[in-house]
Formats: sequence, C-alpha cells, structure tokens
Amino acid sequence: MPEVDPRAQTEERADDFRALEEEIESSFVARKRLFIGLITGTSILLCLLLVLFWLIPFVGLRTIHPLAPWILGLFVVVSIGLVAWAALALVLNILGFRKIFMSRRLRGLTIKIFLPMMTIFGRALGIPKQKIQASFIKVNNELVLAENRRYRPEEILMLMPHCLQNSRCTVRLTYEIQNCKRCGLCPIAGLLDLSDRYGVRLAVATGGTIARRIVVQNRPRLILAVACERDLSSGIQDTYPLPVFGILNRRPKGPCLDTLVPIEHLEWALERFLVVSRSARSEI
Ligand code: SF4
Repeated sequence: MPEVDPRAQTEERADDFRALEEEIESSFVARKRLFIGLITGTSILLCLLLVLFWLIPFVGLRTIHPLAPWILGLFVVVSIGLVAWAALALVLNILGFRKIFMSRRLRGLTIKIFLPMMTIFGRALGIPKQKIQASFIKVNNELVLAENRRYRPEEILMLMPHCLQNSRCTVRLTYEIQNCKRCGLCPIAGLLDLSDRYGVRLAVATGGTIARRIVVQNRPRLILAVACERDLSSGIQDTYPLPVFGILNRRPKGPCLDTLVPIEHLEWALERFLVVSRSARSEI
C-alpha cells in the first residue's frame, strides 16, 4: 500500500475547511444583506420616533422653563447618536471589521433590542419571519466568532433536536444519548463519532424546556446548536449571555420529521472554537 504523507493530509484537510468556510459564507450573503437592510430601516424609524418625541411637546415645554425644550432636545440627540452608533457598529462588524467594535455588547443589543424591532419592521414590509430569523442567526454567529474565544472540549456542548432521530427508532435518547446503537439509520451515529473524536459533550433535547434543563445541568461555556430557524433564534435569546453558534438543520421530509444535520459544518465550527483543534493536534 502507498504511504500517506501526513503533511499532505493536513494541507488537504485545511483546503477542505477553507472551501467549506467559503461555501458557508456565500450561502449566507443574502441573509447578511437582509439583516443590514432591516437594521438600517429599524434605526431610521427609531430616530424618527425620537425626533417626534421631541417635536410634539416642544411648544408646551416652553411654558415649564425656557430651557426645557433644549434639554429634551439634547437627550434626543444623544439617543439618536447611540442608536446610530449601535447600528453602524453592528453593520461594520457584519462587514468584517471585527476587532474594532465590542462584539459582546453588540450581541446583547442585537438579541434584546434589534431582533424584536426588526421582526416587527420586517413583517410590516411583508418579509417572512423565517427569513428574518435565519438572518439573525447568521449575524449572531458572526458576533460569536468575532469574540474570538477558544474553549476546552469539556466546555462545549453540542445540542441537537430530537427530530434528527429516525422516526422508527425505539431507543430513548433524551438524558442518555449513549443508548444509541449506532446503526447509522440517522445522523445520531455520526454525531456520536464526532463527539468521541473531539471530546465534546453531545445531548438531544425534545423541546425548549428540556433544552434549558440540559444547559443548566451541563453548564457549558459555548453551545453548538442545531435546529430550525424558530427554535434556534428563541434558544439564542433564552440562553443569552451564553454564546450559541447556530446551525440550521435540513428538512427533506418537512419540519420535525427525520431531519438531517450538516455534520461537516459542525466539525468546521469545532475546529474554529476548540483551544487545540484536532487538525492542529495532528500537526504537533
Ligand atoms: S443511529 Fe441510533 S438513534 Fe439513529 S436509528 Fe440508529 S440506533 Fe436509533
């Protein structure tokens, strides 16, 4: 048998990851654009509301004190400045200026304030909720990556939805994923292999309450979550400030039935977040 050069293997693997990274990036370009559009629209709307908030009582305020309208005006100008800064910082962050702006604060701001407002604004424009959620997940992922933190394997939890399990499989996986017989009929077997290879924890949740319980019990410092747009965006909101890197599942048979997971995306994320990744270890 011909001998395999380990360096050539490592380079080949690095090329594969680069290609995958480019593929992931290009598949999300539209989502990024949508997010930038929505965030700009929402901020302009917010600023207009603030101007209105100043204009309406302007005449009446003079009767209280001659300086009152100007004090209120200053408050509005500062608020507009803050909204504009937050929106600009977020957009610049999305465009790749990662080190300049505070990603952690921005993630909180996006999750707590911009997402609910963007959803209302987007719905008013007739944009489907699912599209807005997918765009939010993408931007959240960018901000989590921008924090540039690395984790030990035991600090990472891979959280999977129950619908990945083959619908005819009778094995009970919640709380004990090792019950899986690894027959290969569904993605759980491949996920277990991945968790063994990288030493990270893996859990399956049947719903939001169980997912929260698993997170509380495991106390991870980073979650790699796989789910649909709705569950991922609500999970990201629920677990804030805990960083969640979300990966959308694939649904060839429709929602919640025999869904699939892009295991190569999970592996790519593990390589990005682990202190010493598997490929780095093989180079040592
Ligand atoms: S891989 Fe595991 S969970 Fe999936 S069908 Fe086989 S035994 Fe069931």
